[in-house]
Amino acid sequence: MSQVKLQAPAGEMLRLLEELAAFSAPGPGVTRLLYTPEWSGAQHFLQEKMLGAGLETRTDAVGNVFGRLSGTGGHDKVILTGSHIDTVVHGGKYDGAYGVAAAVTALGYLRDTFGPPRRTLEAVSFCEEEGSRFPVTFWGSGHVTGLYSGGGAADCTDLEGITLREAMAACGYPASGAAALRGDIGAYVELHIEQGLVLEQAALQIGVVQAIAGQRRYTARIGGAAGHAGTTPMGLRRDALAGAAEMLLWLERAAQDAGDPLVATAGRLEAYPGTPNVIPGEVHFTLDIRHSEAGILEGFCRAAADAFAAVARRRGLTLALEETLATAPAPMDPELAGRLERLCVEQGLTHRRMVSGAGHDAQLFAPRCPAAMIFVPSRGGISHAPEEYSSPEELAAGLNLLTALLYELAYL
Ligand SMILES: [Zn+2]
Repeated sequence: MSQVKLQAPAGEMLRLLEELAAFSAPGPGVTRLLYTPEWSGAQHFLQEKMLGAGLETRTDAVGNVFGRLSGTGGHDKVILTGSHIDTVVHGGKYDGAYGVAAAVTALGYLRDTFGPPRRTLEAVSFCEEEGSRFPVTFWGSGHVTGLYSGGGAADCTDLEGITLREAMAACGYPASGAAALRGDIGAYVELHIEQGLVLEQAALQIGVVQAIAGQRRYTARIGGAAGHAGTTPMGLRRDALAGAAEMLLWLERAAQDAGDPLVATAGRLEAYPGTPNVIPGEVHFTLDIRHSEAGILEGFCRAAADAFAAVARRRGLTLALEETLATAPAPMDPELAGRLERLCVEQGLTHRRMVSGAGHDAQLFAPRCPAAMIFVPSRGGISHAPEEYSSPEELAAGLNLLTALLYELAYL
């Protein structure tokens, strides 16, 4: 057990976060989209910072930036820590950037204080996670873990019609990112803002993530009969919108009954013909359902499909449910999570276990190597917005916890 006094320089990390926020397209908040000049500027700047921290730096075939602190113990597996450098449009300063800035700061501090580790440590700034410019997500960690192995995705376009392939070429990256695949990652640790209300509401400093929720998305199409709003008696209607409303109220109640961490959302709903004096003959809505356990997620989705079908039958409506996304839950490594909980106790940090309802780079590593995630509170639960904020004290607590875990893993 480590009883070494660790005091990572939070001030350096906070300065780095501010400096990174300056690499942004104009407009409110931070906008740093994949393979844009501001993105290139940020990755280049980070590489300089990594060099300054005494790390060996490298950019891979898709633009992920690594800073390495080589181990002396002859281990061939790397302990990787970091997050993503891209943002949503008009996002905040902390989503992704916090994990990157903390990783660079922690490795620089460990090197200065304790010299080279036994096991190799690497900080990473993944090129892309959000899917904000091109319709792909996890473009950085996905190449490192083999989710993307070159091929089709590079032909998709951004809003201006520029293909991903062209954007990569303009930044000097080859068309194939196959060379970015890593077989030498022995563990992955990610520090991130919570982007939710759980920690703030409970007045806790740290969330130790047990799992990243799996997601299912569907598009539902309900067919009824459009008709005159004045001349069609209530008993003779097949109102697609009233049917959809009944389905969505069932969904909300069932999700509440299922309890945390199950969440179910209908984020978009369109009624046709969409006219005040016509009974809606057709309705489309989306569903987003998440849970950390595959069996429960599957069971809930099946129950929802059955309940919707029963509503449709009773109301004489047609129902078509199309699955548009399915990702499996990603359990974090219990041993690493246990270490984090013990380190919280040792450092006097208040904490709880939790599920991440949002996706993160860590979920791509979880099936391949032990992975861990640390959350710090987000004020008001706000993220993906310029108002995103975590206090310097909260950010410092997360940095210290990350540093302590990396110290244990690489030096002891
Ligand atoms: Zn993020």
